[in-house]
Amino acid sequence: MPARSIEQVRNLSKRRGFVFPGSAAYGGLGSFWDYGPLGAELLNNIKRAWWRDVVYRRDDVDGIDAAILMSRKVWQHSGHEATFSDPMVDCRNCRSRFRADHVASELDVARHAYVSSVEEMLHEVPNAIELEGRRLLTNRLLTAIQTNSIDALARIERARQRGDGFISVFGQLAALDPDVLESGRRYAEFIQDHFEVFRQAYFQLGLAVCPNCAARDWTLPRNFNLMFKTHVGPVEATDAEAELSARAYLRPETAQGIFMNFAHVQRSLARKVPFGIAQVGKAFRNEITPGNFIFRTREFEQMEIEFFIKPPQFVREGEKNDAQWHDEWINQRYEWWLGLGVDSARLRQREQAADELAHYSKRTVDLEYLFPEFGWGEVEGIANRTDYDLTAHSRDIPAEDLARLKLEPNTDSVEKFDYFDPDAKARYIPWVIEPSAGATRAMLAFLCEAYHEELTKDPPQPEIEAIKAEIPAVVKNAQKKQKDAEKETDPAQRKHDPAAIEAFCTALEEAASRLPQSLLEIDALLTEHPGAHNLEPVKKLQPKVNKLAEDCARVVLKLHPSLAPIKLAVFPLKKNKPELVDIARRIAQTYQPHFRTVYDDSAGIGRLYRRQDEIGTPWCVTVDFQTLEDNTVTVRERDSMQQQRINLEALRDYFFTRIHV
Ligand code: ATP
Repeated sequence: MPARSIEQVRNLSKRRGFVFPGSAAYGGLGSFWDYGPLGAELLNNIKRAWWRDVVYRRDDVDGIDAAILMSRKVWQHSGHEATFSDPMVDCRNCRSRFRADHVASELDVARHAYVSSVEEMLHEVPNAIELEGRRLLTNRLLTAIQTNSIDALARIERARQRGDGFISVFGQLAALDPDVLESGRRYAEFIQDHFEVFRQAYFQLGLAVCPNCAARDWTLPRNFNLMFKTHVGPVEATDAEAELSARAYLRPETAQGIFMNFAHVQRSLARKVPFGIAQVGKAFRNEITPGNFIFRTREFEQMEIEFFIKPPQFVREGEKNDAQWHDEWINQRYEWWLGLGVDSARLRQREQAADELAHYSKRTVDLEYLFPEFGWGEVEGIANRTDYDLTAHSRDIPAEDLARLKLEPNTDSVEKFDYFDPDAKARYIPWVIEPSAGATRAMLAFLCEAYHEELTKDPPQPEIEAIKAEIPAVVKNAQKKQKDAEKETDPAQRKHDPAAIEAFCTALEEAASRLPQSLLEIDALLTEHPGAHNLEPVKKLQPKVNKLAEDCARVVLKLHPSLAPIKLAVFPLKKNKPELVDIARRIAQTYQPHFRTVYDDSAGIGRLYRRQDEIGTPWCVTVDFQTLEDNTVTVRERDSMQQQRINLEALRDYFFTRIHV
């Protein structure tokens, strides 16, 4: 089974050097992370696997590496300066800050359900009218309004009726006649258009509850732009005009760097549409609520492709149109994740609803991974961005195209990003399909997927029974400490944190009911859980559990070999036997130039295997006394734990056919 909690992955990451909190010596800096030796390898391997798939394996994609800082005008014309924002609210009681759409998610859910139910019904109109007439439709519409949709809005309305005296828009809402289809459509549009007003009302009327302190006293939601500002060249902080003219943003997506280079790549490589440009690089977003470890961070890495295609009117018979290219990329990207070991039970394609789409998107499908604890989360988005971006950055665009894309004329640009199509003998601005994945978010998904706790053999029953028998005593003692701590009114004087003890007891009892499978979980609870800290019976039980876990269980990262940070570990059976050490070192040196290979003799073989399992090393080689006799070594495979003897001469073939870097 993959990871049951993000905590398991976070602990392993810290313990074994995948991910460390950034600026730790100074208490950290809001959700910035450093990638340690193994994390850097894993991240590089993910990026390399992606690059290999979308650049090397194709004839129609080239890679670039654009600058992180670009002219501010890029972000003005892409729409980011005006619209790349999230709504933010503050709880006046505890001063916590949240993304409004996270706190009041029911409001978004309600809007979403309502708008989609109306859309669905609009599709059914002809049939419905023919078959059962208008009454049926009207009833369904009414039911949708009453059940799905407007629960949250109705609560606002009730609050208004109670005399809270809020906003005249609700008067308009009530005035709409929901009895006919058209009013349903108008209603949906109205909700869309006035959604920010609803959101404001929702908070102002105290309908949203603070997740931190349960108060209902909010500031009004305000839009917060997610781009980090910086300046190019020296600027006096007091000079507002100079600030604006020197202002630059850390890029919030790598895509714009690709659009800026469309013409360079097309001309320098004489590329014909369709072709794509790929890029991997850092992106920065001043997220209001980063979290879930490295899922949402303020600095992260993206892997993006802009795949330029013919606009629909130039597609000839037998050629793929934008919808077909889009589907093809969705499938290819989905397969990439599966090919690297993600189980299809935990990877899904989710169609973005009309009201979720970014301003540039005609259609977007998200690939979502089922993370432990917080559930489905986007790991990649595949959007049909049409000709929006290249048009937005071009001068001399005809008025009808500007109107179609809701763009203003661009008088700053000196380029027109159009392309002469030799087949069509015409110039056009290409459309674009964009598969956009997060490399750091992918790393979390791959780690969660790969993380397994397993028994390597059945632990002796009497020892398991002994552990089970001791757990009630641990819980009883813990509960007593919890009560003592609760009696102490000054939190600073408390020896224990009562909430942490309670959480510890619940988790321990639950895990105990799953022994022996949960042996490693119990070991981790006793060793690392903050509620276990300083409890006497824990100190007694922990070494026993730890010993049994070491003997009979393992944590293993079942990473795809091409992602594994270390591909091969080589050990001598005895570190004080120079003849074994020499051969082991030589084997390691042979492979070091080709893929990450380590030599280790710092513990017994069993422990060395376990250490490598925990970081996902797919193969270990052990040099023993038989090696001296017959030139064979033991090759142990991580997942099956099977060992086979292979001749030193045959090792090269064995690894080169299995390890792809
Ligand atoms: P979300 O809805 O999670 O904020 P998004 O839809 O804004 O994501 P995109 O703009 O489509 O994300 O970015 C493409 C990819 O970049 C995402 O699928 C994700 O993998 C990654 N990504 C976006 N924001 C972050 C972040 N703050 N931290 C880590 N990865 C991110």
